Amino acid sequence: MHPTQKVAILGSTGSIGKNAIEVVRALPGFEVAALSAHSRLNELCDQVNACQPSFIVASEKDRAEQFDWSRLNVSSAGKTPARLTGPEGLEEVVTRDEVDVVLAAIVGSAGLKSTLAAIGASKRVALANKETLVMAGQLAMDLAKETGAQVLPVDSEHSAIFQALNGENRSGIKKVILTASGGPFRNASLDELRNATVSTALAHPTWQMGPKITIDSATMMNKSLELIEARWLFDLRPDQLDVVIHPQSIVHSLVEFVDGSIIAQLSPPDMKLPIQYALTYPERMPGPSPKLDFTQTFNLDFQPPDYDKFPALLLGKEVAREGGTTGAVLNAANEAAVAAFLDGRLKFLDITKSCREVLNQHNFNSNPDLDELLKLDAWARKEIQQWIAA
Ligand code: NAD
Ligand code: MG
Repeated sequence: MHPTQKVAILGSTGSIGKNAIEVVRALPGFEVAALSAHSRLNELCDQVNACQPSFIVASEKDRAEQFDWSRLNVSSAGKTPARLTGPEGLEEVVTRDEVDVVLAAIVGSAGLKSTLAAIGASKRVALANKETLVMAGQLAMDLAKETGAQVLPVDSEHSAIFQALNGENRSGIKKVILTASGGPFRNASLDELRNATVSTALAHPTWQMGPKITIDSATMMNKSLELIEARWLFDLRPDQLDVVIHPQSIVHSLVEFVDGSIIAQLSPPDMKLPIQYALTYPERMPGPSPKLDFTQTFNLDFQPPDYDKFPALLLGKEVAREGGTTGAVLNAANEAAVAAFLDGRLKFLDITKSCREVLNQHNFNSNPDLDELLKLDAWARKEIQQWIAA
């Protein structure tokens, strides 16, 4: 028997975080050790009352200080969780002995430092926060080698690739092909893209996700970020990475081997399964994810991506090839541009255009340290402001 695995869920009020709570509570041998949230503290309290973790982190300090915590119940064992605040609280909680696994599900660069701290503390990291690898893939994976931390994918495409590569020899890999649903604008004309509104861009056909990644899916920047993520997670050459459009989001990615065989992973579009596999690996367990139903007729379609309509797709390959500072610049520019689009201050097509410009303008360094990456992150966000209507 394995000892109970204690899971810290960072970003527990988000789309991945809520799914993760459901998975951990459904799996025997796993329990919630810590929960974190930024702004929705009422919701966090309800989660804490239901899960009774040892730690709770409110990452926005001022909000945490003003909040009325009396909503928290005392647990049946008479305990209240230790409460930490601020980004430092996130970095501390992941290092605690009471935490075995860190589910990194904070959105954006805000998730970087706590993910690195978890890797630094040799924890198993179930990684949803792809932005960590986009910004600092080299540093994160070097650190994992040093500490022995396991970094396991939660992103569905990467979970599929991880499963397809299980037991295979690296020299046998020809190509890793990430599937993309194509998002809400797969069949849109350029004119429709020009006039895309926030509500049409947020209406994803197959996945229910937080707003940032949903906009990334509409521009297809998400697939670019995922190419970069795959490059670092699986130590692939950029020329081994490819993308195919698969509107049903059932085949979550494919690996082509040198003999021509292709191995894929299939399941309905639901994040509970990749979350679960990152927790139970190398074991498999029955769990709460929906299953494919072969008593019904369904189709699996594939088509090549349209790079003219979705030029964001080209940025990922470029960044995967050039490495260095490019990932941190692209990530920050994109976060700032997406936030401005969601606020109605930037046009849809300008998200990719502004990212391309900022990437072109930055001072490239092939071997940056964390400090330089963070400075460039701040610089890129400022550059994006020039594109934004007052
Ligand atoms: P979300 O917006 O639904 O949730 C974000 C979570 O992060 C919330 O709990 C929020 O409190 C927390 N957060 C926000 N800003 C923060 C800050 N400054 N500091 C600390 N915490 C902060 O996002 P999501 O869709 O759950 O995505 C989370 C991560 O998982 C992203 O990196 C995304 O790319 C990745 N991911 C999501 C999905 C999905 O299906 N939603 C799939 C694959 C990968
Ligand atoms: Mg994905």
